[in-house]
Amino acid sequence: MKKFIFVTGGNVSSLGKGIAAATIGLLMKARGYSVTCVKVDPYLNVDAGTMSPFQHGEVFVTEDGAETDLDLGHYERFIDTNLTRANNITTGKIYQTVIEKERRGDYLGATVQVIPHITNEIKESIHFVARESGADITVVEIGGTVGDIEGGPFLEAIRQFKKDVGSENVAYVHLTLVPTLTTSGELKTKLTQHSVKELRSLGIQPDVIIARSSRPLTQGVRDKISLFCDIDEEAVILGLDTGLVYEIPLIFEEQGLARIILKKIGLPATPANFEEWKQMVDRMKNPTQSVRIGIVGKYVRLHDAYISLNEALKHAGGALNTEVQIHWIDSTRFEDGENPEDALREMDGIIIPGGFDIRGIEGKIRTIQYAREAGVPFLGLCLGLQCAVIEFARHVANLKDANSTEFNASTPYPVIDLLPEQKRIFYKGGTMRLGAYPCHILPESLSFQLFQQEVVHERHRHRYEVNNEFRQVLESRGLRVSGWFPDGELVEIIELTGHPFFLATQFHPEYKSRPTHPHPLFVGLVAHSLSHRRVKSLSLRETG
Ligand code: GLN
Repeated sequence: MKKFIFVTGGNVSSLGKGIAAATIGLLMKARGYSVTCVKVDPYLNVDAGTMSPFQHGEVFVTEDGAETDLDLGHYERFIDTNLTRANNITTGKIYQTVIEKERRGDYLGATVQVIPHITNEIKESIHFVARESGADITVVEIGGTVGDIEGGPFLEAIRQFKKDVGSENVAYVHLTLVPTLTTSGELKTKLTQHSVKELRSLGIQPDVIIARSSRPLTQGVRDKISLFCDIDEEAVILGLDTGLVYEIPLIFEEQGLARIILKKIGLPATPANFEEWKQMVDRMKNPTQSVRIGIVGKYVRLHDAYISLNEALKHAGGALNTEVQIHWIDSTRFEDGENPEDALREMDGIIIPGGFDIRGIEGKIRTIQYAREAGVPFLGLCLGLQCAVIEFARHVANLKDANSTEFNASTPYPVIDLLPEQKRIFYKGGTMRLGAYPCHILPESLSFQLFQQEVVHERHRHRYEVNNEFRQVLESRGLRVSGWFPDGELVEIIELTGHPFFLATQFHPEYKSRPTHPHPLFVGLVAHSLSHRRVKSLSLRETG
């Protein structure tokens, strides 16, 4: 029998439901159960692809090319499993399907309504994932907070679930906020009580409450939550604020979270095997050295916009016992006369991440010129590769005013141009070159040294591409194409000979990095940044 664990949240957003769902997945997987995780997003967008990163953080791209909510990234990193487009359900998708069915006449004259048609479609979408993934346990996170108007049909659907599949196969986990009053230092449970009351009024009684708090819960607070929310005291789990998300599974494990859930869904609580995970956390918590990486981008105000990148650097740091200090730098700074060197001198490595539109582009190009000329380790991701090609074309190949047609349609040297198949596309949603494609690696290149493989599969999200008309002239000046997509000869990786570490990819390696399997390109960047730091401090000592 398939088992379902539903994760909801109350009071406020950003309580860490995604990490909690991912953690529950990991705790189950560590006991030998096969697991999948689903994110339900009650917004009307069909997918996250058309949303600004400032609104909703990063768009996470799956292997099969879906543009999904960033929580899928947490799930993949914690349960170490590739998910698919079916693992992200949105109101937009549900309505699209129901309306299509209605137009086809599938409902045989019925009046199509939220209950049962929308709720049935929601339930079927969850069953579909459970079936297709073959997982024993499906963890479903409901986005938003209980009480939101748009979340209503989803909560009704998960309420019905226990009737459909038997309540012994379903567990409900609810996250709430337990704030501390600054004046008295007192922990307050009223918000939790209210939110559970609201959940119960919808017919859902939580089996576990995860209380998010900046302080440990006193016995009195536990007793109160247990009494007012009608829940066993041991099922009140403390979700203490912590700096390292990968530590959360260990913290929840200690409090017996898995045992409580497994008992509810009638599965044996076999001992967990966590060794690899524990070692990884230990390395991340006890670094022996540190390195400074500057991320020069456009969405730096909101770090969630680059969450996979942030995590990939942490993973690589963990592998090298290194603390990676990330410095977020807005590239527009270098367009107002500020010299990139002044801000970047302290950096041991530089990353230009993905992005769209012209704002900040010239600042990125100036940053790359500095990294190239000063021999600072550099990694360009997607737009970062495109900017690196523009920089090289302008300053090394003397193609004055070279540009991407995304930023200047009438540039004399369109070194970056729309992919041919993109020229006929008008709809913005889901139409980029998306998902995993094979990339052939040039033997004896830096890329090959890092990947140690002839063919890799990496995930994409772009419309523009290196223009092959300019490849020869760029290559003749020292730009090396060290990775390419075989059909259609698309440039996937570039590097520079004569530079200690200058590498840029058209794909996004950050999506595939996992805490226990860091991505080789990030490990390469961090390792070279460490060497760069050593060389810098040696030469400082000599000159000083
Ligand atoms: N804007 C560029 C393109 O569409 C880069 C996209 C990205 O960095 N993800 O090709």
